[in-house]
Amino acid sequence: STYSQKEQEQYPHRRLKNYGGLGGKYDTRQYPAKSLCSHCGLCDTRFIHYVKDSCAFLNQHISELEYTVHGKSRDLEVENELYFGVHLNMIAARRKQPLPGAQWSGIVTSIATRLLETGKVQGIVCVRNDEQDRFQPKPVLATTPEEIYASRVNKPTLSPNLSVLDTVEASGFTRIGVIGVGCQVEALRSVQSKLGLEKLYVLGTPCVDNVTRKGLDKFLRTTSTSPDTVVHYEFMQDFRVHFKHDDKVVGGPGKQWTETVPFFGLKTNELKDIFAPSCLSCFDYVNSLADLVVGYMGAPFGWQWIVVRNEIGMEMLDLVSSQIETMPLSSSGNRLQAVQNSIPAYDKGMTLPMWIAQLLGVVIDKLGPKGLEYARFSIDSHFTRNYLYMKRNFPNILQRHVPEYARRIIEQYKLPKE
Ligand code: FAD
Ligand code: SF4
Repeated sequence: STYSQKEQEQYPHRRLKNYGGLGGKYDTRQYPAKSLCSHCGLCDTRFIHYVKDSCAFLNQHISELEYTVHGKSRDLEVENELYFGVHLNMIAARRKQPLPGAQWSGIVTSIATRLLETGKVQGIVCVRNDEQDRFQPKPVLATTPEEIYASRVNKPTLSPNLSVLDTVEASGFTRIGVIGVGCQVEALRSVQSKLGLEKLYVLGTPCVDNVTRKGLDKFLRTTSTSPDTVVHYEFMQDFRVHFKHDDKVVGGPGKQWTETVPFFGLKTNELKDIFAPSCLSCFDYVNSLADLVVGYMGAPFGWQWIVVRNEIGMEMLDLVSSQIETMPLSSSGNRLQAVQNSIPAYDKGMTLPMWIAQLLGVVIDKLGPKGLEYARFSIDSHFTRNYLYMKRNFPNILQRHVPEYARRIIEQYKLPKE
């Protein structure tokens, strides 16, 4: 698809040519961060004027923003801060009554809904899916609980959430909530003071290995036995990808079922090129600049992992205290050897026969890292992989782009000699 006349006038930096990367809609090369652009949406608004200082890929400045947002930068000598960023508290939680169709139990959707219902905000920036395509993201400024509910579940593709900032400005709203992933939140925090807001609530999720719409198709076709019925998927703490299927993909629910594929059985050699360059260059897996982060990877299987970064985050979590059950987090096992082994395996694109992968999955699920140690396993594997990717593909920006906390994490491992 190409752009309307109005869009062309508004955003002349976009070249009107199908690139194919994001369902053919964007030409990545025309965005200021070029191939590193994650399509956070900032450059689809008038706030593109601030891109040089705000873009997570042109000016990584997490530590400085941590100070502005949370009143302190993370303490690199404290392991939990080194890994998970500034926080007041971390817990495991889940909704007593899970929301049907949510990614996990729907804590994000519940908090956003309560923010609106209690009048704390006038609108929530979130992302729905396109009517024709369940995985194509469609960012909105939601002003009703129904619109927030309709935005539940991950769109596992790059999503221009900040593209609605012009709408936010035009609405005249002064209290808003934004749901977003790390690169979107870094750009948002950089222009926050220009938005004329009295209050901003930032509800984040961790994010990793995101793909373009085209890359997603390749991933589903390479990995699932029934790519056309997948409604969502997640790389879970039991070292398996869980695909949720609905036989009536659109207009469901139809027959629903789950398929699991062990991480070690993924066809790494075929999948190497599906991840967006932005995600292969990201060191903000845990969304350091959100007020509250809701993920899963530090919690036991079936629970969500909550990181309360500051008072605003606490205020948001309190809104759903009667809807959720909680428990303390735990940590066991040792990730170091597993991460070290994964580095050359990924690098060489090794793929195991499925029966060995299944067996290895069972063993590592029993004996491998759990709880916060699993979260560290996932962070370490991605940071080492991403560091190698940057070193090989963007050596000239490596120095300024990799934050000090990520360097310290990467230094624990032996990387292949180039
Ligand atoms: P829901 O109530 O279902 O709400 C999901 C919210 O996410 C919606 O409000 C929607 O607006 C927003 N959203 C959906 N897709 C996007 C997108 N592409 N960009 C921005 N916002 C979006 N957690 C981990 O602990 N470890 C991981 O490795 C991890 N990887 C992730 C990768 C991606 C691409 C995404 C989008 C999320 C990832 N998460 C990860 C977060 C996790 O999958 C859940 O989103 C989170 O736990 C919230 O679950 P929920 O049931 O409360 O969300
Ligand atoms: Fe603009 Fe966002 Fe792309 Fe950076 S990542 S170039 S801020 S759209």
